[in-house]
Amino acid sequence: MKPAYRNYFAVKACPNPHIVNVLKEEGFGADCSSLAELVIAEKLGMRGEDIMFTSNDTPAVEYVRAKSLGAIINLDDVSHIGYIDKNAGMPELICFRYNPGPLRKGNDIIGDPRESKYGVTTDQITGAYIKAMELGAERFGLHTMVVSNMLDEQYLEETAVMLFKLAAMINHDTGIKFDFINLGGGFGIPYKPEQPAIDLDGISAGIHVAYKKYIEDMGLGPVRVVTECGRAITGPHGFLVSKVRHVSVKYKDFVGLDACMANLMRPALYGAYHHITVLGKENEPKDRVYDVTGSLCENNDKFAVNRPLPTVVPGDIFVIHDAGAHSYAMGFQYNGKLRSAELLVTSGGQVRQIRRAETVEDYLGTVESWP
Ligand SMILES: *Cc1c(COP(=O)(O)O)cnc(C)c1O
Repeated sequence: MKPAYRNYFAVKACPNPHIVNVLKEEGFGADCSSLAELVIAEKLGMRGEDIMFTSNDTPAVEYVRAKSLGAIINLDDVSHIGYIDKNAGMPELICFRYNPGPLRKGNDIIGDPRESKYGVTTDQITGAYIKAMELGAERFGLHTMVVSNMLDEQYLEETAVMLFKLAAMINHDTGIKFDFINLGGGFGIPYKPEQPAIDLDGISAGIHVAYKKYIEDMGLGPVRVVTECGRAITGPHGFLVSKVRHVSVKYKDFVGLDACMANLMRPALYGAYHHITVLGKENEPKDRVYDVTGSLCENNDKFAVNRPLPTVVPGDIFVIHDAGAHSYAMGFQYNGKLRSAELLVTSGGQVRQIRRAETVEDYLGTVESWP
């Protein structure tokens, strides 16, 4: 039998309530990792096991709120077992984030699991469940999140195998039968046009084979298998649309947009590639090489470096692709650069503004009694 499956959308990837609501209507849960994200889920009417709370370095107030919503709480550290018990009470259903350390290789964004601040180690994991049980937990989940933007299908399947085997080991040592296994997010998308998308059906089939072998045939089923994908859900469907303000010739050629890293900082932060097309010039030869910049007073405020593009002029519209996850959401106000509006294109083709642009009044709104 195929395990029951659900994706809990990682709200941090695209925390616009209108988008989270569309996903909720499609049957997604919400994966939250902060108070504000819990409030988004709560205001959208999500409750109980529709919400997964996967946080780290968590303040008590967030555990209290998550517990009062009946969310599934995923603990990041053994020291949080006593902490949540003291501050919110041990929930009946509890999950731990597992960090395999040297047993797995991470990737560029998250890094080597041994250097990672996340999760419970292999030596700690069984004891963690025993302690939670002693404090009254009765149902259990198991989670990991070791990679980000992973395009290696085999690696993603191996994560499932790792967790299934670990669940069997913990069952052997404690008698726990897991309610669910959470494979985390990190499913990658092809940012470059020549990259193929990962084969989700193939991965799913591979995970099902492993599920049968390590869970079902071992008498440990049924266990729900869930994920917390963000990027794979909204990433390819968002675009940063920006107008060319200036074209400058210095030691290199620069295109200055009316957007900046306040709107999308993945290129500045990770050297990430985002594909760019120029509206109406999609089929023109890419006969120039530009750095595509914003107006922030930081030289890494660039959407692309040495990017072949058609010849552009002020007024051209740049479309920066795959900006639907971890893009607008990461925006900041450094240098007084304000975040843009967000528009939703509905399946009926209408364009609806779902967040207005920030204003200078917003920016100054938190200043106490203007001097
Ligand atoms: C960011 C995050 C996710 C989502 O990651 P994607 O790469 O967008 O799939 C899922 N779970 C946790 C705990 C996260 O921090």
